[in-house]
Amino acid sequence: MSKLILVPTPIGNLEDITLRAIRILKEADLILAEDTRTSGVLLKHLGVGTLMRSYHQHNEHKVVDEIAEKIESGKTIALISDAGTPGISDPGFLLVRECLRRNIPVETLPGPTAFVPALVNSGLPSDRFVFEGFLPQKKGRQTRLNELKEETRTMIFYESPFRLVKSLEQFSEAFGKERQASVSRELSKMFEENKRGTLEELATHFKAKNVKGEIVIIVGGCEE
Ligand code: SAM
Repeated sequence: MSKLILVPTPIGNLEDITLRAIRILKEADLILAEDTRTSGVLLKHLGVGTLMRSYHQHNEHKVVDEIAEKIESGKTIALISDAGTPGISDPGFLLVRECLRRNIPVETLPGPTAFVPALVNSGLPSDRFVFEGFLPQKKGRQTRLNELKEETRTMIFYESPFRLVKSLEQFSEAFGKERQASVSRELSKMFEENKRGTLEELATHFKAKNVKGEIVIIVGGCEE
């Protein structure tokens, strides 16, 4: 039976892809990719020759019906993003919702995503946590931070290297400079760094550096 399959792809190290993911990508009738050039490199490396088409945040609203109709007509479509799990701070949600609305089967493969290794590696409680992804850059940012002041669960944020220090300083102001946190940079890549400490210590550490790469910030929750 035709379906939509969401396939996680590596967040850095190309070995982090499952055997099942490779098979699904080979067997699908079509692969939807955020950036066909970026994914083309991975697919070539994996020996996957399946037809690709672009699906990203700027066209997803426009093409979601057409894609659902394609699946209804008997095609199995795999969705991948540039890295990690589609739908996690990446396009995916709209298509999943539309497929489910039409009773099209949807399957998501388990696989790489940046926040899980960052959380587990942080040494902060991982039994209960809240995924915040990217905070709004301007409007709504302070409101969100205010709402999180009382959050008792461990908090997970995605951040760009250019805003890391500013964010750590804002977190320090909102949650207190002694709050424990962890910054994971370039997970699974050659220059992976996991730095743990108070928000103040982390801000000082990264202020002295020219921060590069991809980043996850984990912040401990407020004590109950
Ligand atoms: N779909 C992805 C996932 O499942 O994690 C997230 C995509 S989002 C557009 C990209 C953000 O994820 C980066 O800005 C960074 O915050 C985080 N990220 C992705 N790869 C990472 C890595 N190797 N190390 C640390 N953070 C990473």
